[in-house]
Amino acid sequence: MAKDTVILTGDRPTGRLHIGHYVGSLRRRVELQNAGDFKKMFVFIADAQALTDNIDNPEKVRQNVIEVALDYLACGLDPEKITIFIQSQIPELCELSFYFMDLVTVSRLQRNPTVKTEIGMRGFESSIPVGFFTYPISQAADITAFRATTVPAGEDQKPMLEQATEIVRRFNHIYGDTLVEPNILLPQNAVCCRLPGTDGKAKMSKSLGNCIYLSDTAKDVEKKVKSMYTDPTHLRVEDPGHIEGNTVFTYLDAFSKPEHFAAYWPEYQNLDEVKAHYQRGGLGDMKVKKFLNKILQEELEPIRQRRAEFEKDIPAVYEMLKKGCEEARAVAAETLSDVRRAMKINYFDDAELIAEQAKKFASK
Ligand code: ATP
Ligand code: MG
Repeated sequence: MAKDTVILTGDRPTGRLHIGHYVGSLRRRVELQNAGDFKKMFVFIADAQALTDNIDNPEKVRQNVIEVALDYLACGLDPEKITIFIQSQIPELCELSFYFMDLVTVSRLQRNPTVKTEIGMRGFESSIPVGFFTYPISQAADITAFRATTVPAGEDQKPMLEQATEIVRRFNHIYGDTLVEPNILLPQNAVCCRLPGTDGKAKMSKSLGNCIYLSDTAKDVEKKVKSMYTDPTHLRVEDPGHIEGNTVFTYLDAFSKPEHFAAYWPEYQNLDEVKAHYQRGGLGDMKVKKFLNKILQEELEPIRQRRAEFEKDIPAVYEMLKKGCEEARAVAAETLSDVRRAMKINYFDDAELIAEQAKKFASK
């Protein structure tokens, strides 16, 4: 990172945040925040985007705004160091999206693989809401309004960042250098780019109900780990087991650290030894799950405890968000002023234009 880095990411308030968000983006955000090597950092709750596929359920979105805010604070995001805001409270984002819509074709939007998958998941095939279909454009507005250079996110966001970059290039080409090109910052650990669900499905996702939530109780986490998808061919302990596509091992890849073995499973030095034993046969799923549960509890317990503290003063959390929205709005307003000038729609600030027109009509 460099001193001119502007970091931005958001989450949809469609549910509480889960360990997929954590390894895909949230953990990195906290590290970046604490390293402090940036100009500005924004984290936002994408409520307007959540409404694009929940238009008949605004209550769900409203209830989850505070849940996501609590998850942020619980993970260690700190409003003293960064700006946390709510998307819908920044009307400049709508304005920017509206201008961006002219820079993108329908066929370009149709090619977005993440949106394609999501349309299928939601059964939208024949009735896609225009707002949902165009959310990559609105996401480009979210990113560029804050001049973000760096977006820590999971792999599903890659097509969104590509779309945003294209929009920036097109805008700057037509209207002159105004907007900043963003870069995605994927997790260093490949398994964290897209953490699968507890059911073994490709992605842990609020919409699929296959999540371990950061705010789940210790009991819930244990229950979910115990019933996790493993290797369906590993029927008896002595059978050789498979690691590939085995969610328990994927989670161990994402969460285990060398020190966990000495602390919780001293029979093994490292994960490779556990994997080798499992593949050879003779290691039961339950033992591996017990180990995973201990690791997850260690990681999640401090998050749960911090959450419980913040839950004691909910009005203060809303106040923090309100302050964040004001800060964010001021930044977006500056960018929009540049955008309007570049697009030549800043009529009343354009003294030259007014003088020129006056002259033209005077000489008629
Ligand atoms: P929804 O189903 O409502 O879209 P979601 O679980 O996909 O919810 P988002 O709010 O869309 O969550 O994603 C927020 C951030 O978390 C993004 O940066 C995304 O890449 C990341 N993320 C979400 N799910 C995962 C996952 N399973 N693995 C890694 N990163 C993830
Ligand atoms: Mg999503």
